Amino acid sequence: MFELNKLLRPHIADLKPYSSAKDEYTGGYGIFLDANENALGSASSTTHNRYPDPYQKEVKTKIAALKGVDVSNIFLGNGSDDIIDLLFRVLCRPEKDNIIIMPPTFGMYQVAADVNTIEYRVAPLTDKFELQADKVLEQVDENTKMIFVCTPNNPTGNDLSTQEINKIIENFEGIVVVDEAYADFTTQESYINHLEQYPNVVVLQTFSKAWGMAELRLGMAFASSDIIHVLNKVKMPYNINGITQKIALDALENANKKEDMVAALIEERKRLEAILPTLDVVQHVYPSDANFLLVKVEDANDIYQKLMDKKVIVRNISKAPGCEGCLRISVGTAEENAVLLDVLRD
Ligand SMILES: *Cc1c(COP(=O)(O)O)cnc(C)c1O
Repeated sequence: MFELNKLLRPHIADLKPYSSAKDEYTGGYGIFLDANENALGSASSTTHNRYPDPYQKEVKTKIAALKGVDVSNIFLGNGSDDIIDLLFRVLCRPEKDNIIIMPPTFGMYQVAADVNTIEYRVAPLTDKFELQADKVLEQVDENTKMIFVCTPNNPTGNDLSTQEINKIIENFEGIVVVDEAYADFTTQESYINHLEQYPNVVVLQTFSKAWGMAELRLGMAFASSDIIHVLNKVKMPYNINGITQKIALDALENANKKEDMVAALIEERKRLEAILPTLDVVQHVYPSDANFLLVKVEDANDIYQKLMDKKVIVRNISKAPGCEGCLRISVGTAEENAVLLDVLRD
């Protein structure tokens, strides 16, 4: 049985959060003399003298409509990275608890574990980068708080099997973090649609990839309102700045532009998937459900450096387990991809 209160670090379960007057007043216009802001205005040419909405209600209302969830199921952070760290801080007792990751996968899970002095256990994907639920569940003990499932997976690009993910969720009493940073590029159904069925799931999505807003640093978590409530208690009071909130609102009103860009990027990816295998230096292009490709080449270190010399920067991930000789290449514009292909041809 999943019981959130038993999973939380005891002092977090008991935490009384910081409260601002802006939490208590919801009457719209007012004379705000509560927060020691500068009532005269800002030194900058645009106005920023008031603290922003601590719970980002307008932004969340738009996200809720788009995703078909309730506002109470949404948490926003300073990028998904920030939310990952926050999950560690509310759930994991330093030097006592552990989490499980399935390499090769996103590096931040391990870094966040290290920062918080939490043991990470590994249950590697197969050589075809497939998830084996049984191998993951074997690693679980009474101090396992989280399992991180990244789908489509970074750096491999493939969707992980829904069946295997469900098996993990259904047989683990801790939190399963399903990182869907690349959800917009895949046809796999989002776990956002299964939050009621799975109270132990936290879905991560981000404005950094498909939305094209990496500079903003805005990440989303979707989960039960109980989990969201705990994250709200622990977050910094004004964790999402006002400019970010305004720009996010603007983007959410133009979701069709995001859809168009996603379609164009997938087209370009398919073009690269067709051309790359015909090049002499390329040994294998792994199937991708994301906006990047994992490409096995003759000599990854050498090709990485030669691309860099021509000002084409890719990610050398040949040291990641199971990724020997591999580069991870983001899909660029048609022009950028043409330069990439030219350099690889040489
Ligand atoms: C890019 C990426 C993120 C996004 O992180 P942000 O902090 O929101 O920019 C999260 N997870 C994975 C797997 C990623 O590749």
